[in-house]
Amino acid sequence: MAKFKVTPQIEATGYGLSGDIGGLPKTTYYTPDGRVIRTIVNFHTNTAGQVRDANLDKGWLLSRPAVLKLFCKGCDRWHDTTLEVKACVDRQKRFIQGMNRQAERERKTEDKERIAVLEKQIAELRAKVEGNGHGQVLQSEVNEPTQVPRLSRAKRQSGR
Ligand SMILES: [Zn+2]
Repeated sequence: MAKFKVTPQIEATGYGLSGDIGGLPKTTYYTPDGRVIRTIVNFHTNTAGQVRDANLDKGWLLSRPAVLKLFCKGCDRWHDTTLEVKACVDRQKRFIQGMNRQAERERKTEDKERIAVLEKQIAELRAKVEGNGHGQVLQSEVNEPTQVPRLSRAKRQSGR
């Protein structure tokens, strides 16, 4: 794990407010829509090897926002206007619909492939049973062991 580094931003805010008794020190965050969240700093190392606070990466702020933004259910982030929120939610809906359609298409194609395989197997089985005399070969192989005791019984009876 990467070494913990105190950034000026975190130092200015402090590790926790007074009143935190025991446990990890908490930090006060502000969401762009004005909610206040008190929680521990969530450090993680990003792909570039930098230590970041995941809470800030998801859009939370360390100071109360001067201008509030609107929370968006489409992306779990914030937008400036309701129009932007609507556009984002619509885009998410279209994306999900597209994914569903693609899944449906793939499912249908898969079924066709499965049916083709089954039809081939059925045709092969039919050829074995009905054609080329294979059916008879199979049958005599199956009947042979049962015929042996019957023959021996017949021999025994004829021998009397
Ligand atoms: Zn959005």
